[in-house]
Amino acid sequence: MKHVKADVVIVGTGVSGLFAALHLPKDKKILMITKDELENSDSFLAQGGICVERNEEDYDSFMEDTLKAGHYENRRESVDIMIRSSREVINELIDCGVEFHKKENGELAYTREGAHSKSRILYHQDVTGKEITSKLLACVQKLSNVELLTQTTMIDILEEKNQCYGIVARSADKTLFAVTARAVVWACGGIGGLYEHSTNFPHLTGDALAIALKHGIELEHPDYVQIHPTTLYSPKPGRRFLISESVRGEGAKLYNAKMERFANEVLPRDLMTAEIRKQMEIDHKPYVWLDMRPLGEAQIKTHFPNIYQKCLEEGFDVTKECIPVVPAQHYFMGGVKVDKYSRTTMKCLYASGETSCNGVHGANRLASNSLLESLVFAKRAAGQITKILETKETAEEENVQNALLKKADATKFLGKEELQKLYAESVRKEIERVREEAV
Ligand SMILES: Cc1cc2nc3c(=O)[nH]c(=O)nc-3n(C[C@H](O)[C@H](O)[C@H](O)COP(=O)(O)OP(=O)(O)OC[C@H]3O[C@@H](n4cnc5c(N)ncnc54)[C@H](O)[C@@H]3O)c2cc1C
Repeated sequence: MKHVKADVVIVGTGVSGLFAALHLPKDKKILMITKDELENSDSFLAQGGICVERNEEDYDSFMEDTLKAGHYENRRESVDIMIRSSREVINELIDCGVEFHKKENGELAYTREGAHSKSRILYHQDVTGKEITSKLLACVQKLSNVELLTQTTMIDILEEKNQCYGIVARSADKTLFAVTARAVVWACGGIGGLYEHSTNFPHLTGDALAIALKHGIELEHPDYVQIHPTTLYSPKPGRRFLISESVRGEGAKLYNAKMERFANEVLPRDLMTAEIRKQMEIDHKPYVWLDMRPLGEAQIKTHFPNIYQKCLEEGFDVTKECIPVVPAQHYFMGGVKVDKYSRTTMKCLYASGETSCNGVHGANRLASNSLLESLVFAKRAAGQITKILETKETAEEENVQNALLKKADATKFLGKEELQKLYAESVRKEIERVREEAV
């Protein structure tokens, strides 16, 4: 098997993988891999925006909104870290070239989404994720110490006595290769690909979770899956198009089949979803109606051009008519269990972003907290890894790596489809097992 030696390997090129890479030492060799193309991560899809603590007076309210949405199951310390790091991370994004919407006087403009008691969300039209991720990607691509490999899938890790020494990956031409590294970061995103109806990219199938299960790495709350209340209804199969919560935050209304309002439109996601499902049952319809007209044509076209365009392509002019919306799988609050430094229960293995569970979101994510949480905890992972890289690799570690490479050489790895099926099944089973236990 081909062998690549790196200092750090990062699996995933969404915001969390990219931000980790930007915070690692520039004289160390970093290998980043992604299962698909660079633009195909959920980070590119984020619409609504990214939260930030407005000022010190906002701290209590930001904390309470996050805890309340999370049913008070959040790890308070993680939420505190996220809130207190938020302004610094936003400033770093701006330094990296990210442009957020500004008011006429040049100050940053803030919007609001469901369950936020204040406007504290920065945005770039309705394509905030694309703006942030493309700028981070451009910054990473300028680094000569980082190599990015596309269409390359992690299929296992190299591990001995609960320490991670690297990964095994399969490239587009089906070649297997091993990467040894002093540290591995899992930034593999969510699990939407396991669901029939999801807003996520279908290749996000929770591979890191399956590998964690295989190697006895702890997971936390794998049954905490968020359903987004409003995606554009379509009878066609495939990824569901999200209608961002911020349209409701800005005044869009929900109607039942009789065109009557039936709920408070800015409820937290889980409660909103329950209200919509209840109404769909009463109406015997696979959708309810969303009316964006209260926002006015000008605001729709400037703040939500992507939603406007996509709905037009699907035959709806949101400036003139209501659109049918339905809940769909959207976000994964559970994941690979990590501590406040993004350390998993395996030495030298880190996880950040949607793959990980650091407890920020509790049982339900507050809108626009995930980009922020991904960035804050990816940076913290990089901080820990930097400390490892400051030490010298021991002869014993090199010996273990060599033994693991020999073992990987002798292993018969399954083909892509077979492995994918097996991994998907093991994650599905675990979600069900934990869900049943919780009942
Ligand atoms: C439609 C939509 C709208 C959203 N809107 C918002 C919003 O407004 N605000 C907000 O805060 N959040 C939003 N989110 C959530 C947010 O976008 C994600 O939680 C966040 O971007 C996750 O980033 P990540 O880096 O963890 O993962 P991702 O960006 O999903 O990246 C995962 C990466 O891992 C790679 N990968 C996975 N498995 C493997 C493997 N086995 N081998 C190699 N590579 C692998 C993928 O190819 C990809 O590169 C939205 C999500 C969606 C889907």
